[in-house]
Amino acid sequence: MREPPDTYWFVFHDGRLVLPLEGAAAFLAAQPPLRAAADALAHDLGELDGRPCVAYATDEAPDANRCVALTLREAYLRLERRFYDKAGFGAQLLHWDATTRYCGRCGGRAERRGPILKCCTVCGAEIYTHIAPAVIVLVRRGDEALLVRSHSFKGKHHGLVAGFLEPGETLEECVAREVREETALEIGNLRYFGSQPWPYPCGVMIGFTADYLAGEIRIQEEELASAAWFHRDALPELPMKLSLARRLLDAWLERG
Ligand SMILES: [Zn+2]
Repeated sequence: MREPPDTYWFVFHDGRLVLPLEGAAAFLAAQPPLRAAADALAHDLGELDGRPCVAYATDEAPDANRCVALTLREAYLRLERRFYDKAGFGAQLLHWDATTRYCGRCGGRAERRGPILKCCTVCGAEIYTHIAPAVIVLVRRGDEALLVRSHSFKGKHHGLVAGFLEPGETLEECVAREVREETALEIGNLRYFGSQPWPYPCGVMIGFTADYLAGEIRIQEEELASAAWFHRDALPELPMKLSLARRLLDAWLERG
């Protein structure tokens, strides 16, 4: 009989992804490489190269001679995209698991019933993975793009207007509201661009393009440090390739 294939283990310690010190994109082994935390669940992440992928949390401090513990953003710089995507998937499931140990309705203990479902052992409430949708939009005005700097940005780059979807709102309404709130501008010709999971900690980014319609920039100072039009030939530092913001900008630049 054939041996079952080794597993890619996506191990997290204290919110950081633990990787082998050299080379490999994830621990590849028959058994978990670090001790699983007490009551930790193993989360199935599907397959890569025909090998099962599993995420779990460890309470064993990583041995610095053997491994390195990285934030997901740091891991992106080291990993092939498909490994980073699995790690992000694992991070989202672990975040869900860690924040739903007990029922939000009655306080009873929650038990896993499926890959993305827990049930309260007392009142039976269903607790699915929580995903927070956020929109992001590239607003164009001829050869210029509207770029902003949020107080929350780490680093020196400029980005795009973005924000979380609110209850009772369509995605289209959300984009128009965010642009209006953050910059006082009106937009039109809204078009869907694409989306991507955003495991920081449990989001999905939904990207749009739009055209400037009217208004003068007036920034929402609690949210933004700056907002301005930038010509395509004189862009400031842009977000890292990882982000949907950068994909939106790159697609715009490629169209010439
Ligand atoms: Zn309950």
